[in-house]
Amino acid sequence: MLEVTHACNLACEGCGRIREYKETMKEMLSTEECLQAIEECPAPVVTVTGGEPLMHPEIDRIINGIINRKRHVYLCTNGLLLINAIKKLKPSKYFNVNVHIDGLAKTHDAIAGKGVFERATDAIREAKRAGFRVCTNTTIYKNTTEDELEDLFSFLEGLGVDGMLVSPGFSFEHNKNEIFLCRKEVEERFGFIYGISSRYKILNSPLYLKFLKGERHLRCTPWGNPTRNYMGWKSPCYLITDTHYKTFNEYMKNTNWIRYRNGSDPRCKDCMMHCGFEPTVVLEGGKRLSDIVEMAKWSFR
Ligand code: SF4
Ligand code: SF4
Repeated sequence: MLEVTHACNLACEGCGRIREYKETMKEMLSTEECLQAIEECPAPVVTVTGGEPLMHPEIDRIINGIINRKRHVYLCTNGLLLINAIKKLKPSKYFNVNVHIDGLAKTHDAIAGKGVFERATDAIREAKRAGFRVCTNTTIYKNTTEDELEDLFSFLEGLGVDGMLVSPGFSFEHNKNEIFLCRKEVEERFGFIYGISSRYKILNSPLYLKFLKGERHLRCTPWGNPTRNYMGWKSPCYLITDTHYKTFNEYMKNTNWIRYRNGSDPRCKDCMMHCGFEPTVVLEGGKRLSDIVEMAKWSFR
């Protein structure tokens, strides 16, 4: 997770970043620091995020620099600046645009602001017309209904998106809010999503969805998804912060991984975030024949 800036042109209700980093929001990683970070950390996929990463004045140089090193880029954006940004970028098999859409217009605008849904979906249409791979990322909150989810997936597929990620809205240190789901609600919503996942291009792995619906136990793998931002390498994980390290090696060496792996930190109690648990699927997905078959079917849909 490469957070090139925490500055944002929105102030969404569920966002932890703009709250946790409000003191350094105007700061940015330089292009050189971004490329240095991906030299330090050999992750094959780099999620370029923020804040709103398209507010970085050299975002095209950063993205092209990562692609030139043959790493896959997921550019996470709220879509507001996307139509202009794609004029400076080229489609590539290494490049995915990932637009944040939390529901149909009424729901998304209630969280992100009036008119944001229309602008974001217009940007998706434009990016698809220009030949980019585009997926979406939907956070599910307390008032997201099953009917709305199914309508949203149909609508997004109608726009031609290449895949859809879903994740539970999670109450973390810097944003305690009643819009987030409790564990029982996560299990119910994701039981429903698992049931319809073969009909839509859901990008979450089936094993992670089974974990979310309470059918599988997984332990967290926080080092599988390291986060670099202006403050340094964020330890232990994308979600909670004890400290920031200057280098990737210090971060890997000095973080007390056992504490987070075992879930013994009280802040991990109800966490089911993809940043910690999708890497566990990668580690464990090959251990049971039934998992291998299910993952293979999912990969070749
Ligand atoms: S667009 Fe993203 S970074 Fe900006 S406020 Fe919304 S959730 Fe936070
Ligand atoms: S369980 Fe969640 S909060 Fe705890 S280390 Fe893993 S991702 Fe972070």
